[in-house]
Amino acid sequence: MSHDITVTFLGTTSGGGPTQTRNCSSLVADLAGDGSLWMFDCAEGTVRQFENQPYRPGYQRVRVNQVSKIFITHMHADHTMGILTFLRNILGIPKPVIDPDAPPANKSSTKVEIFGPRGIRRMIRMLWNVTHTRSSQAYIVHELLFPGEQPSVPAEVRAGEGADETDVRNASEKVGRDIHCDEAGYWPRIVNREIGGQRGCGLIVDAGPIQHRDPCIGYVIREVPREPLTAESPLPRKLVILGDTYDPSPLAPLVHDEPPFASPLPERDPWGHDVPVKIPVSLLVHEATDAHIPAHVDPSGRTGKNRTPESVREKAISRGHSTPGMAGAFARTIAAERLVMNHIGARFPAPVGELTNMSNPQTKLRHGIVREMARQAAEGWCPDGSRPVHTEVAVDFHVVTIRPNRNAPTAPVRGSATPCELDINMSPPIHTTTNTSPLFSCLRLPSSRQQHFRRTPQLAERRVPKDACTRI
Ligand SMILES: [Zn+2]
Ligand SMILES: [Zn+2]
Repeated sequence: MSHDITVTFLGTTSGGGPTQTRNCSSLVADLAGDGSLWMFDCAEGTVRQFENQPYRPGYQRVRVNQVSKIFITHMHADHTMGILTFLRNILGIPKPVIDPDAPPANKSSTKVEIFGPRGIRRMIRMLWNVTHTRSSQAYIVHELLFPGEQPSVPAEVRAGEGADETDVRNASEKVGRDIHCDEAGYWPRIVNREIGGQRGCGLIVDAGPIQHRDPCIGYVIREVPREPLTAESPLPRKLVILGDTYDPSPLAPLVHDEPPFASPLPERDPWGHDVPVKIPVSLLVHEATDAHIPAHVDPSGRTGKNRTPESVREKAISRGHSTPGMAGAFARTIAAERLVMNHIGARFPAPVGELTNMSNPQTKLRHGIVREMARQAAEGWCPDGSRPVHTEVAVDFHVVTIRPNRNAPTAPVRGSATPCELDINMSPPIHTTTNTSPLFSCLRLPSSRQQHFRRTPQLAERRVPKDACTRI
């Protein structure tokens, strides 16, 4: 059992995709360190993304049949249309029925548990029924209901009761829960899981609303220590994974509302932004659908003409989305330690392959775009540049590793820790590691342009001189 948490991005583009270089939204997280995966969103093509993972040294490919839970952020097609294929793939084909009078196959254990907003149960059930899908193992769907909502279809609908045949619960589906939000509008503790072995903690998942065009959910995953915490205890880790949003601030109180086990911990303000917290967010995954790319990065206007930072931000918000600066600002709001942006607009192709030739205009542009987006996020996070912050733009198959905190919360003030250096000459796809002690990472830029990047590090570091980010 590993003590690391790993997050693998399987699809990183927006609804304008899939594109040549990115699939639409999906990521998987190994939170328990035991190889079981929790998936967040499942765009069309997600199963194929598992197959498309590159082989690379030191990296264990994630597999479809490791997934045990799926968390859907919202019902838009670029986040949901891979679910049927995924279920068909993971649940197995039933044995042929030789004796029609034989009892149904044993589906006593649930292979996959699905959480999502209103509509997820009806969508899956309808797709399952109209495509005559059958499986040997079972799934279950829980709907998270906003205030005043009723489930899209009852958890139990039997045939022969006058119900539409597409609404009938099939033999592969177990009866799920209708989870109504509490008075504050949140869905606390939708998952409460004990982790065995040496890990010494459990996991809980809270969910809450975020602002998008349509109902949308953000998820907060917390480690729960098995032993009582003291002021000297290492900090448990906390992840925040968002769906599409132009304003995730409704989720912030839930992120900051720590369970009772955090009571002994002192409050601290890790970034000096007047955001005192007991447990910072180890990783924030936030969308950045659009961005203004300045002329010194994109001289020929390949990412769009007649666009200004203001017009791009306005347009993004009007469509329910964010810019990198907005993602950075939310990272500050919730006292995050690391920001990884996904749901990147289709106009921004990902750097792929061995990018050794920076004189290639396309290579140069793609590198420049992701570095600029990361820089803008860092600027939104820490506008005066007084503190180092850690921002990244995800590409498909990007892997983030979050190591356990080893320092007690009363360890040296976070901003004064010695920054570690990341290897910027990583082989693709990027595999970055955060050892959360120290709690941020600095990017060491090459001293000379002759020192080529084989891959864009896609990291922004506010201490990096602006011209160093844009000169390559
Ligand atoms: Zn989307
Ligand atoms: Zn959406």
